[in-house]
Amino acid sequence: MRKKIKDKIDRRGGPATRGVTVVYGKDVSIMVKQLLIDTEAIDRIRPQSVVVIKPNLVVSRAQWKGVNTDPAAVEALIEILKRFGVSQITVADGSGMGYSATKAFEICGYSAMAKRYGLRLVDLERDRFVKIPVRLDGPFESLEIAQTVLECDFLINMPVMKAHTFTSITCSLKNLKGVMPRSLKTKFHSVDLNRAIAQLNSIVTPHLILVDGMQGDLSSETGYTPVRMERLLMGTNPVEVDSVVADMLGYVPRSIPHLDYSAAGGLGNCDLEKISVQDLNLPVQGKYFHPQVEYTKRFQCRISAEGACCTCLGNLLFALERLKEQRLLTKEQFFFIGQNPGKIPVEKALKIAVGKCAANRYEADIEIPSCPPSAGNIYRRVISALGKASKSSGQSA
Ligand code: SF4
Repeated sequence: MRKKIKDKIDRRGGPATRGVTVVYGKDVSIMVKQLLIDTEAIDRIRPQSVVVIKPNLVVSRAQWKGVNTDPAAVEALIEILKRFGVSQITVADGSGMGYSATKAFEICGYSAMAKRYGLRLVDLERDRFVKIPVRLDGPFESLEIAQTVLECDFLINMPVMKAHTFTSITCSLKNLKGVMPRSLKTKFHSVDLNRAIAQLNSIVTPHLILVDGMQGDLSSETGYTPVRMERLLMGTNPVEVDSVVADMLGYVPRSIPHLDYSAAGGLGNCDLEKISVQDLNLPVQGKYFHPQVEYTKRFQCRISAEGACCTCLGNLLFALERLKEQRLLTKEQFFFIGQNPGKIPVEKALKIAVGKCAANRYEADIEIPSCPPSAGNIYRRVISALGKASKSSGQSA
């Protein structure tokens, strides 16, 4: 058995580097098809493959949206796998502290899904574990990895892109923590967590990464400040994927320590200029702005966002969060975004047009005319205009 696992790890030979594909929309089922079928990514999976899907099931509670991977995205993937003749499919994860993947399977609808599609569900905390020597320097010599994950032919990592209390962001690199026993997951928090994450990714490499960016969270991995972002990302290299996600959430990738260590250890490239990003479409335009969190209380500045796409607005909110961390927001700043941002104030205010729609319609002091501008792009333009340099987000003017 050990030889079989070793062969599989060796055969993977490190992550592939094929860039990152992004699709925007509201219907995950259509979006997963666009990513897998339109790009022919599905051709990489052979019908006889044993496929393991590793979602993020960090919580087992009713309020899991924007925290756990959207089960509708997982189901869309399973439907495609089935259609292409793949029959040996397992959905596997171990939950966060104080939660249970077994319960999450029930609450998030995986148990019913398993009956519909003939899936195997594995709570990885109950799996058998194999000790594997790590390939990067750090706190561990070896790590215990779930046998189900090691033995599969094709591992699909399906994280959620969101903020994290200790690591700033969490996405594909950090999502792999779920493949270890609980005792080891706990131990990660008493050592250098960022180096430990890089070490883990030196021995577990997904074949495909599908990021759920439909709804994330502004400040925590376990929720309560949800932000709709309406996008999915696909890639094969976790460092590349997480670097693009870091930019979408307003960070310079190298400022995220676990990303930096992983890149320095040769697991992938975190230089955005060297990562090929392909957008399959444009964000979906909205007519009205429905706040999901109390933005007016959270951010000191003023925001007008009628007719903004959720994607664009989500990026703006992450940029505002970064600016807030730097104490750079003031009530004299007026951010407007979307098709119909309304009346622009004539009184003294720093007018900031976010996105092509707003920049085309109104003259502003700062214009960020991309569609959609990433949070990193918005952040950089604002601090550049304010003549500031930021340290904690690793951004400079
Ligand atoms: S620039 Fe306009 S169309 Fe593009 S994402 Fe922003 S609001 Fe939507």
